[in-house]
Amino acid sequence: ESNSNLIRATLFPGDGIGPEIAESVRQIFKVAEVPIEWEEHYVGKEIDPRTNSFLTWESLESVRRNKVGLKGPMATPIGKGHRSLNLTLRKELNLYANVRPCYSLPGYKTRYDDVNLITIRENTEGEYSGLEHQVVRGVVESLKIITRQASLRVAEYAFHYAKTHGRERVSAIHKANIMQKTDGLFLKCCREVAEKYPEIKYEEVVIDNCCMMLVKNPALFDVLVMPNLYGDIISDLCAGLIGGLGLTPSCNIGEGGIALAEAVHGSAPDIAGKNLANPTALLLSSVSMLRHLELHDKADRIQDAILKTIAEGKYRTGDLGGTASTTEFTNAICDHL
Ligand code: NAD
Repeated sequence: ESNSNLIRATLFPGDGIGPEIAESVRQIFKVAEVPIEWEEHYVGKEIDPRTNSFLTWESLESVRRNKVGLKGPMATPIGKGHRSLNLTLRKELNLYANVRPCYSLPGYKTRYDDVNLITIRENTEGEYSGLEHQVVRGVVESLKIITRQASLRVAEYAFHYAKTHGRERVSAIHKANIMQKTDGLFLKCCREVAEKYPEIKYEEVVIDNCCMMLVKNPALFDVLVMPNLYGDIISDLCAGLIGGLGLTPSCNIGEGGIALAEAVHGSAPDIAGKNLANPTALLLSSVSMLRHLELHDKADRIQDAILKTIAEGKYRTGDLGGTASTTEFTNAICDHL
């Protein structure tokens, strides 16, 4: 029975540690009285011919209908004749932008304490179009596809994000000095969109220089927008700046305003089922989801409780050098709520 005051959201607990960290989100949302009703979908045991993957058509329909969801890690079963789960989600839901907030967690020491940036990665084309072939023996070719439509779409999202999140600057990351046509078109699209947002500063940074600046002084950056491959690499580099993949959330933005938040780490089979996983990345992803829904007071409360628990240092999971179980860490967050 559904309560009309509740917002329906799709939840994919996922595989491996997924169900354990999803339980942590469920518990914390209950204690914080978040007005969300979860519609849970598990990865199927058989291929659904309608999606040609282990994801059922109903689960995709659920995200399309609710327009908002949270996804745990999924381990793609090895075998021929089906599409990877993450690729299916990306293609079927047209998830065109991957957004990763990256900020230093107070009290958790890394080399930097002033990281506060957002990477926005174009998620549908570039080198990831999967168009590779052999020309003659010993020579292969891979096509990098950049379209005006996808570049404008991700640039528009980046500037809109900057404006609505109180950010001041957008940096377009590129290698247009070498890839003149492809990255050139990407930059041209970013410039066009920048003109519509005179209140946001716009700059262009060459990818190699960007890497050097990021490791020297990450505080130089605010919002970064880039084509697929650069985004893949730079977003992991940024995760490393603040303590690793166990801490970093992300959100995928799709056509028609769909938002599917997910932790960036995998299913961690080595620690699955042992109550050892750190739920922080999925929890902070759920916070991104709440912000997307403009439930900012709930998002702030949950985020504060997570950060306080980590800063306090009494209950930390193994990956952060502590001895707490997933449940003890989760209970500590609930106590801070
Ligand atoms: P992984 O991220 O699962 O694990 C790498 C290491 O990090 C492991 O030692 C693991 O224990 C640790 N780790 C990861 N998340 C953690 C957490 N929340 N708390 C504590 N420790 C954590 O990467 P992998 O081993 O390369 O991949 C395992 C499976 O996950 C594969 O099947 C892969 O395809 C899948 N995967 C899925 C996604 C996704 O769904 N988005 C992303 C990456 C990998």
